[in-house]
Amino acid sequence: MSAASASEFDIIKRYFTGIGAEYGDAVILSGGDDCALISLAPEQQLALSIDTLVAGRHFPASAGAADIAQRTLAVAISDLAAMGAKPVAFTLAITLPSYDRDWLEGFSAGLKKSANHYQIPLVGGDTTAGPLSLTVQVQGSVPVGAALRRSGAKVGDAVYVSGFLGDAAAALAMLEGRLPADDQGYFHRRFYQPQARVQLGQQLLGVAHSAIDISDGLLADAGHIASASGVCIRLNADVLPRSKALQRLVDEQLISSQQARAYALTGGDDYELCFTAPPQNFDPLAAVAVVEIGRVVAGEGVQCLDHSGAVLDFPHHGFQHF
Ligand code: ADP
Ligand code: MG
Repeated sequence: MSAASASEFDIIKRYFTGIGAEYGDAVILSGGDDCALISLAPEQQLALSIDTLVAGRHFPASAGAADIAQRTLAVAISDLAAMGAKPVAFTLAITLPSYDRDWLEGFSAGLKKSANHYQIPLVGGDTTAGPLSLTVQVQGSVPVGAALRRSGAKVGDAVYVSGFLGDAAAALAMLEGRLPADDQGYFHRRFYQPQARVQLGQQLLGVAHSAIDISDGLLADAGHIASASGVCIRLNADVLPRSKALQRLVDEQLISSQQARAYALTGGDDYELCFTAPPQNFDPLAAVAVVEIGRVVAGEGVQCLDHSGAVLDFPHHGFQHF
């Protein structure tokens, strides 16, 4: 830990200025004034979301600074993706236990990498001292009336999911020492650098009836669509997309097949999109693999069946803070 001291303004200037600035087409004013000014194109609505990550709760207190930064921004942007919004700008409220130059350099580099990846500028924030905590607020734009909501699922829709499920739960088990760590770094990346499905979200505008990003686990998040839409989501547990790396853990008997299925159904943190769309309208999209995993039927809640049609029983409340 560096012993040097710095004022709040030195920290802002050194580590939080100019991040993602090349993507600030919509930014009229950023950094240094009382507010940032953003201009939205006509016929666009502002989509807003905020997320707080607390050390020891949302990420291990020992996590690397660059990893924390990348995960924090990706997780926030995933909410924009789930609504079909295009990233416009973000703000960062950061509470730091001390002035630690190495940590701040790592954090700033990770944030910059992620801001460039998602093409989103940092336009302001707040910097305070206290227990490590990060809050990112993201702003996006979406055509008026077009945002993808949780409440639009209709009986007869197919249910789809992007990418792979269960990797982040396996990664967390590794981080917590419940599973041997992977030497390839694949699971580490899946946990700390989740890919917010920004392009897919925008491609789904006018196509999907409802969407959500999977932060608390498929069962819990599909449950949010089911209750907001007043329908039942019936999932086929045998077709959940699983990465080769997760399958390898099963093949090497590090986890059982049931455990892999439980990771995919109840593990959170994958930040894939789950959405519903009329099957006849939906062309599989090229950008990212999308798999059909179920149907929307009359009723309520989430039902999970295996190939024989037997109903599987999983606790599906997801992560609860209180
Ligand atoms: P105020 O007192 O008017 O709220 P601050 O002193 O908190 O302003 O911040 C000064 C300027 O620095 C503001 O423009 C604010 O948006 C920006 N800022 C503060 N913290 C951060 C941060 N972590 N990242 C980016 N900009 C920041
Ligand atoms: Mg302030």
